[in-house]
Amino acid sequence: MKTSNLGYPRIGAHRELKRACEKYWSNKISLEDLVEVGKSIRAENWKLQKERGIDLVPSNDFSFYDQVLDTTLMVGAIPDRYKNAKKSSKNILDLYFAMARGLQKDGVDVIAMEMTKWFDTNYHYIVPEFTKDQEFELVSQKIVKEFQEAKHLGIHTKPVLLGPVTYLLLGKEKEEDFHRLDLLPKLIPVYHSILKMLADAGATWIQFDEPMLSTDLSEKEKEAIGKVYNGITEAFSNLKILLAGYFGDYGNNLDTVLNLPVCALHLDLKRGQGQLDQVLESGKLKENTSLSLGVIDGRNVWKNDFESSLRLIQKAKEKLGEERIIISPSCSLLHVPNDLNLEQNEGLLSTEVKDWMAFAKQKLEELQSLKILASNLDYKSQQLFLDNAASMEKRRSSKLIHKPKVKQRMEQLEERDYSRDSSFDQRKVLQEEHLKLPLFPTTTIGSFPQTQEVRRNRSMFKKGALEEQAYVNFLMEKTTDAIGLQEEIGLDVPVHGEFERNDMVEYFGEQLEGFTFTQNGWVQSYGSRCVKPPIVYGDVSRPVPMTVFWTSFAQSLTDKPVKGMLTGPVTILQWSFVRDDQARSVTCEQIALAILDEVLDLEKEGINIIQVDEPAIREGLPLRKKDWEKYLNWAIGAFKLSTSGVKDSTQIHTHMCYSEFNDIIQSIADMDADVITIECSRSQMELLDAFSEFDYPNDIGPGVYDIHSPRVPSKEEIIKLLQKAEHVLPASKLWVNPDCGLKTRGWEETISALKIMVSAAQQMRETV
Ligand code: GLN
Ligand code: ZN
Repeated sequence: MKTSNLGYPRIGAHRELKRACEKYWSNKISLEDLVEVGKSIRAENWKLQKERGIDLVPSNDFSFYDQVLDTTLMVGAIPDRYKNAKKSSKNILDLYFAMARGLQKDGVDVIAMEMTKWFDTNYHYIVPEFTKDQEFELVSQKIVKEFQEAKHLGIHTKPVLLGPVTYLLLGKEKEEDFHRLDLLPKLIPVYHSILKMLADAGATWIQFDEPMLSTDLSEKEKEAIGKVYNGITEAFSNLKILLAGYFGDYGNNLDTVLNLPVCALHLDLKRGQGQLDQVLESGKLKENTSLSLGVIDGRNVWKNDFESSLRLIQKAKEKLGEERIIISPSCSLLHVPNDLNLEQNEGLLSTEVKDWMAFAKQKLEELQSLKILASNLDYKSQQLFLDNAASMEKRRSSKLIHKPKVKQRMEQLEERDYSRDSSFDQRKVLQEEHLKLPLFPTTTIGSFPQTQEVRRNRSMFKKGALEEQAYVNFLMEKTTDAIGLQEEIGLDVPVHGEFERNDMVEYFGEQLEGFTFTQNGWVQSYGSRCVKPPIVYGDVSRPVPMTVFWTSFAQSLTDKPVKGMLTGPVTILQWSFVRDDQARSVTCEQIALAILDEVLDLEKEGINIIQVDEPAIREGLPLRKKDWEKYLNWAIGAFKLSTSGVKDSTQIHTHMCYSEFNDIIQSIADMDADVITIECSRSQMELLDAFSEFDYPNDIGPGVYDIHSPRVPSKEEIIKLLQKAEHVLPASKLWVNPDCGLKTRGWEETISALKIMVSAAQQMRETV
């Protein structure tokens, strides 16, 4: 039996890579310094894995920015617009960073390649771009160099390649009249050259990542998989190919992968538990193929339950024999933080909860333990096993997790808790009477500029260098200024500005029971950007109001209706590490109840408009379409639960960032928010088509200007967009607002842009 790891976090235990990259980008360190940091992170990771007895240690899982971009560079799919950057950059890394981040230097001005979410994770990859006559050539030999680098350190690694089918499918055609998969015959030779070089360098195992195998593939795509891996195994009989699909089971692609003559097939047994039985019972697994059992959760922070893992391992062992078993995490450990031992602040993460957790380093130790236990017939009496079982039992019965009050409340929920009292049309009349807003009402999405000053004060307060009262006074000043400005600008529905919030999820998590936080639990989001997700470990409840103070304070400063601002249950869930001892839907419902409490308290305090942001609803969609309905049912249900308890006259808003709405428009309508604001300006209102074609019943605020750049829009531009909107939807349904929150903007451009937006709305009113 072997242990294998699919990938290790590459930002360094103390985010060394982030710091080094950012310093290099701002010319504070040299290229040599940056390269050196990368080298030492790799060495440390390899050593660490070696010391923990991992048999198949990955290499080429390191990246200075993103593994998909690494592949793009490897196969030379460099878009034409980087030609000048290529000429002017002194080394390949500069070209690489230009593709990742854009470049404005020495007369060169190119925009970055697009970035999007890596499957259903919060990691983002750089989207490959393909043209019809796309050519590929071997440009970067990073994978070979890293294999040799490890070899010099005495570590024989398993190089990891992003498989060619997934690579092509993740990309985009930049011209019409061809499909990117048709480029496969041109791409394969580059992969073969790389494999040849790796074989010459002495590599034995090669891991091919094909996570697309966890999505619905067409016949053509399945055929492509067959062609690629039959071809590779035939051409390289001296290499052992490990094919890895993850983030789910193989579903309809199972027969395709079972047919491949690969040396090992990886199974994600966290997301696809049932798949082991399916594979073992199918009798279709090739005699020479081993199974890589992904029993340790690579997507979450919880300690592995040895008993259930060993049950799976034993089962496979009985059928296949020990030598055909590899044990591993379910996917790369890129998606979990580095080292739990760095968490030493008990005030933040209690010893009790910490005992239930495992980060990347601890997961390697779990692998090692599982291997030892699995080869012991009497494993149940081993100390390693007993300790794990005791820890599991403590977690199961912990008072920290189980709150009878929360469970009781869940049991008492009824159908009517999930819908408003009256229909939207009836509510609209009441809200109009109550709020007396003009046609084309103007508002913003919530946050105002988080200036250096705001961030500095918060960080001083957190460090204890600023007293609470002084901090509160400072925030009151900022909020007062923001209300004054909004009155001056003439916005119809002002907001308090969110100055007190660090992050739209963390802010709520910190005030909810059942959530905990880490000091150093960083996970790469994209490039040098890392996030530290909250952790939901127990039943969620809201002990005291969270936003009422700031919203009421803002309301006390103006006669206009201030819009209260909350983050929705699905978004809070989606951007956290979630407990794995109950269904996500149940946890989401608990969060929804906590948000409902807040909604009702705001209403009680006289707040008549409340926005519940749900930017993450779409990204939570399962990878396979057949699972969508179930997800949408509980996700939309949770939103409705959190907002439906209000009076008819209270207006509920929701907000979603840029996303395709076409295929989920029914669900968006089912949310039944009185007003939905969406990001729209970059698509020139095209996103609205989904709403108009569907006859979306409620009111909509399509974003009228892009908040991602400091550029101030002209009045004509905004009017044009509004006219476009009016063309597809009746004026009586339209709101006027920016695309998203303004926290990343400066005040100057914010004020100018909003003034123009308000005057555009005024002009629109005159023409109706
Ligand atoms: N209310 C939040 C803000 O304005 C919404 C952010 C978001 O949509 N991601 O910042
Ligand atoms: Zn947004």
